[in-house]
Amino acid sequence: MLRGVGPQLGARLAARGVTTLQDLWLHLPLRYEDRTRLTPIRLLRAGESAQVHGRIEAVERAFRGRPVLKVAVGDASDGTLVLRFFHFHAAQAKALRIGASIVCHGEVRAGQLGLEMVHPGYRVLDEDAPPHLSDRLDPVYPAIEGVGPVQLARIIGAALDYLPQDDVLELLPDGLWGDLSLPRWHEAVRFLHRPPPGVDLSDLARHRHPAQLRLALEELLSHQLSLRRQRLAVKQLGAQAFYPSERFARRLAATLPFALTAAQQRVLGDISRDLAHPEPMLRLVQGDVGSGKTIVAAFAALAAIESGAQVALMAPTELLAEQHAQSFRQWFEPLGIELVWLAGKVKGKAREAALARIAGGASLVVGTHALLQEPVRFANLALVIVDEQHRFGVRQRLVLRDKGASGTQVPHQLVMTATPIPRTLAMTAYADLDVSVIDELPPGRTPVQTVAINEHRRDEVIQRIRAACNEGRQAYWVCTLIEESDDPTAPGVPKIEARAAETAYDLLRQQLPDVRVGLIHGRMKPAEKQATMMAFKSGDIQLLVATTVIEVGVDVPNASLMLIENAERLGLAQLHQLRGRVGRGAAASSCVLMYKAPLSPLARERLAVMRETTDGFRIAEKDLELRGPGEFLGTRQTGLAGFRIADPVRDAALLPHVQVAADALLATAPHIADRLIDRWIGHAVRYADA
Ligand code: ADP
Ligand code: MG
Repeated sequence: MLRGVGPQLGARLAARGVTTLQDLWLHLPLRYEDRTRLTPIRLLRAGESAQVHGRIEAVERAFRGRPVLKVAVGDASDGTLVLRFFHFHAAQAKALRIGASIVCHGEVRAGQLGLEMVHPGYRVLDEDAPPHLSDRLDPVYPAIEGVGPVQLARIIGAALDYLPQDDVLELLPDGLWGDLSLPRWHEAVRFLHRPPPGVDLSDLARHRHPAQLRLALEELLSHQLSLRRQRLAVKQLGAQAFYPSERFARRLAATLPFALTAAQQRVLGDISRDLAHPEPMLRLVQGDVGSGKTIVAAFAALAAIESGAQVALMAPTELLAEQHAQSFRQWFEPLGIELVWLAGKVKGKAREAALARIAGGASLVVGTHALLQEPVRFANLALVIVDEQHRFGVRQRLVLRDKGASGTQVPHQLVMTATPIPRTLAMTAYADLDVSVIDELPPGRTPVQTVAINEHRRDEVIQRIRAACNEGRQAYWVCTLIEESDDPTAPGVPKIEARAAETAYDLLRQQLPDVRVGLIHGRMKPAEKQATMMAFKSGDIQLLVATTVIEVGVDVPNASLMLIENAERLGLAQLHQLRGRVGRGAAASSCVLMYKAPLSPLARERLAVMRETTDGFRIAEKDLELRGPGEFLGTRQTGLAGFRIADPVRDAALLPHVQVAADALLATAPHIADRLIDRWIGHAVRYADA
């Protein structure tokens, strides 16, 4: 490798996937520091990064739980800036003495005593020595564990010496991007590491500079090609083809209290056509909450079961898997179809029995992640159905699929999600899947009326719930996390949520003695949860106090009122999912978003969106707009993850160009695809065995 990179350093870089010169070239700065100039202290503004030169006017060492060093710096503009250090050496403190001349740079923020910088970079100058100014912007690189920032910058600098000055590394044919005017590859890379002084940093900060676009486009293209290639590879494998006799399907249809919507029939048609081919289906069914995906999955399963094959249905939470097991039992038992239920909680003898029945060829296996465990073996698994697939990793989907692999045959895959992704994004997120959309809700649903109410009016709301329950309606009272961490998957979160729910449950029981109140949360025993859900379904419980465990999939059509506490803390996607638990029956439903004032502008906007629309696609688009790049729900689990430069959400506008370029490249220069995939994705080819 490079001079100065020994085995130890090499290993640290390799741990981050940096093994070649090219990897170093593509380890691009996150941002830049402008040390080419000095800013008079008077002109500083909070939020900016700047470099200032002045004299130390005062120094204060204090101890507030931990040592603090505060240094006031003044300059010719007659401004004062406070530097604040929380850890420092004695020698450092000594050098920062009153009267010393100092240059420092960092982010300016508003402190208690005016503007300040926390832990700025600084240099104490010799008396009267002029401050040294950089002749270029300083790149700030994404950190690599075990490699200091200075060392990293040095290594990358050394690698840049080897960056060719010509087009030897240019992989893309001229004209690939139509009339977009973009720099060459080597120009773009050099520019981003070494932007000249005077460049507009705001363009770079917004990722709108042509050099960034040039590389982002290429990276998006590489991912697109990789996904398409993997899809082709899967399609080359064989799968069992099913020509259903429909004897089961007809009988199921006859017992249903409703007819499928046109959208459900269309999607089912897509699936049936896929299943009739001896190549594996890879289909995503997207449908808003309540659009009726489950019954579509049931008909799909019948096609395989009629032919004597096995079907596995996996759901992300036990509550949902359990509910599916119940629905399918109700639909399939009259047809004499054997169903096995498997979740983590199935233990001991029951588990042994379940495993034996699965290995013995039971027609339908419904369960949670437990299906992925090693001892689970199928006899003839031919169709894998994954519900709420955004909750699973791609890997997990493949583990299940591989349980049905035999010879060159693999099972068909049907994945379902209620997470709508705007069209442009879907092409990137799901380039390895065919997509069918259930774009119609079953008839007779009235849109959920949504209101936002200040929590001061809690009593009023409670009386409203009492009235609704007394009229025979059922309601959810959802307690959401109120603690610091907003990550519902963080350890400890179910506990905090559970405590909030228990408190609410006790209060509501006191306040509503004439209402049958139930409680469900993630910390309860599975059997208790199940019993509670059954009681709610049957109407024994009128008001169910719940945590966000009910967020996915739960289906109790008679529940027509939902109250969500701390609604201002939740994202749009989660609010939409939660609200999707009501509005499933014929009765008009309502949803009360209870919030604590004051609302941040963002929270205000989110609540407004929820009041305005119940359309999942509209909400998803808004979500994207409000949340900004990279945080869109489900992105981690789809092809939207794992980018170095591009962010498919932020760069969504580029995606149509990428589609066109991918078609063009595959048609005219398919050999380039390998080199592109190698450059950007390398060994880490995602879904390597998809
Ligand atoms: P989701 O798409 O959110 O998974 P479900 O499959 O849980 O939705 O269906 C929601 C509810 O709608 C269920 O109670 C289901 O029985 C009912 N349902 C499904 N299809 C229809 C239909 N065509 N007509 C009436 N009700 C339906
Ligand atoms: Mg569902």
